[in-house]
Amino acid sequence: MTARRVYLDHNATTPLRPAARAAMIAAMDLCGNASSIHAEGRAARALIEGAREAMARFVKTLPRRVIFTSGATEALNAILTPRLERSNRPTAPFDVLLVNAGEHASVLFGHRFSADAVETIGMTPDGRLDLDALAKVLERYAGRRIMLALQAANNETGVVQPVLQAEALLRAASSDTFFVCDAVQAAGKIACDFDALPADALIFSAHKFGGPAGIGALCLREDVLLGEPLLRGGGQEFRQRAGTQAVISIAGLAGALVDMRETFVQDSVRLAQLRDQLESFLRTLAPAAVLFGTEVERLPNTLCFAVPGMEAQVLLMFLDVEGVAVSSGAACSSGKVKASHVLEAMRVDPSLAGAAIRLSLGWTSHLEECALFMQAFEKAFRTIKARQVKSAA
Ligand code: PLP
Repeated sequence: MTARRVYLDHNATTPLRPAARAAMIAAMDLCGNASSIHAEGRAARALIEGAREAMARFVKTLPRRVIFTSGATEALNAILTPRLERSNRPTAPFDVLLVNAGEHASVLFGHRFSADAVETIGMTPDGRLDLDALAKVLERYAGRRIMLALQAANNETGVVQPVLQAEALLRAASSDTFFVCDAVQAAGKIACDFDALPADALIFSAHKFGGPAGIGALCLREDVLLGEPLLRGGGQEFRQRAGTQAVISIAGLAGALVDMRETFVQDSVRLAQLRDQLESFLRTLAPAAVLFGTEVERLPNTLCFAVPGMEAQVLLMFLDVEGVAVSSGAACSSGKVKASHVLEAMRVDPSLAGAAIRLSLGWTSHLEECALFMQAFEKAFRTIKARQVKSAA
């Protein structure tokens, strides 16, 4: 029998919701290609269009403005291009992409602007986009075609970004703007439809709200054509994303979405309570711990902190052995650990940034799990401290 694990890494990926699993299992019996006109094809197509309608309702747009992709990374790569065509506006390429320094790598490195057409806007020490810096940069691009990429909430700190203020500054600077908002971490935690987030494009990833990995959505407020779709060679997804649609994954996304929509308000309250308990536990056990982003609005599920002198990788491995999965604040992809660019943008001292741990709760989290985390963390903390004292003696 395997020992019970405590999973506090929902911002990395969430466990599959039962509704998503059931929807995927049911979809496995469909054998049609959604582009085929026979009954099997029509059944697959009906499933996809039902999912599209659900996504459209969720964000408050029209179904034809929802494009399913292989995830948020692809959706961001697709939309962050200078070549967008809108029927009611001139279609010259965008002059500049303004990008928040704390964006996910799929924005920072996934866009398709040339390096000299990108300006990075810094963050304030509390983890929000620096609105004064944005205003200054916008002055230089007044009247030009400007694209802005700003996430709804940060994946490492959970800090909710000043989307409304940034949008107001952007629209005031030019009549020809496009606002891309990565809502990946906001979904299921705060409101993220086009009323709450007045962007032109909202990006989602199913595995962050209880669906499967490898499926996401690019949602548009108006009709917009990608001048250069990433994937070409087929007319699927309104000619914006070629390739046979992943019916089973799309079913999973829709299953998770329906479940998340119904539960997210009470879940958010519950998670904030659990998160606050974890926070006061940490403050009591380790008064020297630094908690990031606590002075501003944060997602209810995220807690990012560092205990000075206690390296994150050591803590993380210790906790893993104790059965607890958390994440270090440092970005970890392809097995390599790098200092977090988000904490760097917040001007956190590099040695403190190297100690950053992220706890992220989600739909499966409950009190007992948090109690187990506290036990394991206290044990790790006291053991590491004792070792440090011994080696200093
Ligand atoms: N944007 C944010 C804020 C994320 O946290 C992630 C994943 O961690 C992504 C984009 C990329 O999402 P996907 O895994 O669907 O490519």
